[in-house]
Amino acid sequence: MRPCFAAVLSSCRAALLLSCLVGVLPSPAFTQGQPAVDPVQVLVDRLDLEKYKATVKGLTRFGDRRQGTDRNRAAVDWIEAQLKSYGCPTDRIKYVYDPPPPNPGGGRGRGNTGLAVGGGRPRGVRAPTGVNTDPMKQPDETLRALNMQPSTPGPREMVYCTKVGTTRPDEMYIVGAHMDGHGWGEAANDDGSGTALVMELARIFSGPDVQTERTIRFALWNNEETGLNGARAYVEQRQDLQGKENPPGSRRYPEPKWLGMIQHDMMMFDHGMPRPDGTMSPEQRPEADVNIEFQSNSKMAQSSQALAWTLHAANEKYATDYPAAVGPHMTNTDSTPFMDLVPAISVRENERGVHIGSGWDPQWHQPTDLYATYSDKDFRLGLNAAQTTLGAVGQMAGATIRK
Ligand SMILES: [Zn+2]
Repeated sequence: MRPCFAAVLSSCRAALLLSCLVGVLPSPAFTQGQPAVDPVQVLVDRLDLEKYKATVKGLTRFGDRRQGTDRNRAAVDWIEAQLKSYGCPTDRIKYVYDPPPPNPGGGRGRGNTGLAVGGGRPRGVRAPTGVNTDPMKQPDETLRALNMQPSTPGPREMVYCTKVGTTRPDEMYIVGAHMDGHGWGEAANDDGSGTALVMELARIFSGPDVQTERTIRFALWNNEETGLNGARAYVEQRQDLQGKENPPGSRRYPEPKWLGMIQHDMMMFDHGMPRPDGTMSPEQRPEADVNIEFQSNSKMAQSSQALAWTLHAANEKYATDYPAAVGPHMTNTDSTPFMDLVPAISVRENERGVHIGSGWDPQWHQPTDLYATYSDKDFRLGLNAAQTTLGAVGQMAGATIRK
């Protein structure tokens, strides 16, 4: 028996008990006699697998949420209502989408160099990828009917909400995901999983006892699948408004200066490389990880890489189940329009170019991208990405909890 326990057993004196417990339990830092609580850990602990799943499920009620349809507009309305209910004040970006002439195969697969999009080098077994456009491949008649209305060109809207910083309201991190999808499924993973992650972070940072030094904006891009048009519209419309106080002297900044942009796109499925016969492991692979990518060819590569490592460190500290990996080939997602202007990274289940582009996610843009396709192990990878980004942004934005 350890002497300390012997002392406790033989004495009931409170002071001795305390000194023993301090010796036995992991010793937290103490400030003024109270254990110092990491406020970011408190916020990370407010993430919840069932809440995350429920938000993904809520998004799938609108089918594939294809841009330019009533189901997409209804999803934007629903997302906005949710954000408001969390106490996060919302706004909308309006733009017009006029589709360019079709460019079959553009931006997908290998380019002329033999490299994957984004610059990585594909290796190993590859499986076909593409976008399903055949309604009859969706066996669920109700879902097929829900997804039936075609997209029409014209005005578009997307929603964001903002947590205003206390001491640095003029500086902002942008946390994003795209809410539109396609392929005649439910776009549960692409990108219900990222949209739900961003909405969960909006909920937690908008808690009545939470304050942050800097501003955080939660953006749910539309029209990602047609060429990042929503994120591009945001950059075009708001880039020049950065850091401007309006009205003067008000301490209000409609567009705080961008400190970084963190995109979330496909968060849940890391079952590994396709097998030689083209089938996939039915289970999340034990080595599953969160892939954080920056673009080494961008003007902000150095500072984007630094941001990526900040998320990596936050993953080490706060993520409960899955580690993170950093890579240099960020591509084909809503952080791209930001990458020559500010530090910009994407967070995913796999690398976009060499993994997803090689068919590591067989649900990608397919009728099988359904809520019911995924297990708790898959949803938990998304939750770990949420822990990672929440941990990093909580630290960078200076989050504290009011007593
Ligand atoms: Zn996507």
